[in-house]
Amino acid sequence: MNVLIVYAHPEPMSLNGSLKELAVQRLEAAGHHVQVSDLYAMQWKAPLDAGDTLERRPGGAPFHPSLDSRHAFENGFQSADIAAEQNKLRWADAVILQFPLWWFSMPAILKGWVERVYAYGFAYGVGEHSDARWGDRYGEGSLTGKRAMLMVTTGGWESHYSPRGINGPIEDILFPIHHGILYYPGFDVLPPFLVYHTSKMDAARYQATADALGARLDQLFTTEPIAFRPQNSGAYEIPALTLRDDISPGQTGFAAHVDAAA
Ligand SMILES: Cc1cc2nc3c(=O)[nH]c(=O)nc-3n(C[C@H](O)[C@H](O)[C@H](O)COP(=O)(O)OP(=O)(O)OC[C@H]3O[C@@H](n4cnc5c(N)ncnc54)[C@H](O)[C@@H]3O)c2cc1C
Repeated sequence: MNVLIVYAHPEPMSLNGSLKELAVQRLEAAGHHVQVSDLYAMQWKAPLDAGDTLERRPGGAPFHPSLDSRHAFENGFQSADIAAEQNKLRWADAVILQFPLWWFSMPAILKGWVERVYAYGFAYGVGEHSDARWGDRYGEGSLTGKRAMLMVTTGGWESHYSPRGINGPIEDILFPIHHGILYYPGFDVLPPFLVYHTSKMDAARYQATADALGARLDQLFTTEPIAFRPQNSGAYEIPALTLRDDISPGQTGFAAHVDAAA
């Protein structure tokens, strides 16, 4: 199978750098083909701006992030770095986003990868929008049939990210990435691989972490995805896009969008 690792850490000698090397070796040893988008090494341009569109919309209209994105995507006017990453996504059967948690989210360089590579017509604005369907998204879309997993390291302890931990539950912190960035264009989203309390790493813990990562990668194509509820399968009212009253009655918040019975 084909695996794309989108990797965001500025230092090859870091913990993330070591884990990325380990992941590549493990996946290749299992017979997979691996590509790595090493965003810092590529000097990936993070800001989405008018330079992303080689030829703008006719008529001299002001730059519009969505409309110019659609125009460039549909007419072959995207900058080459964006088109190359989209081709890697088309090629991949599984995508791993690997990063240290920075300010409760992904590093800006990776957010910029998402903003620019996820073009209008590629990752959003796909499919029929009507009273019956609200586009191909949340479980459907251009990336349907592919798997995605986060590999995340945190300075905070596991307890800090537990259900009553001060930082908030890790499932909630990662929900916008899992649901909004990965499930939205159609990925099956696997539970994340997490390394907490990174300052406490020593040789023994690194070995245990490496073993655990290896085991997760061995199951990359068999692990059950998170049971997010597909948008167009009847669980949501359209166009309000609220959960039907009889689905998890009374439950609100992020967890309501996961089918606990699945
Ligand atoms: C801007 C910023 C924002 C942050 N925000 C948050 C946040 O919101 N929440 C949070 O929890 N944390 C946060 N952090 C902390 C951050 O998540 C951690 O520093 C990061 O996850 C550690 O990963 P690293 O690859 O940089 O580790 P490194 O610092 O490279 O390594 C961590 C430890 O692992 C050891 N190590 C590295 N490689 C090996 C190896 N091969 N074998 C054995 N040991 C090894 C190192 O010696 C070190 O002790 C933030 C940090 C920054 C800079």
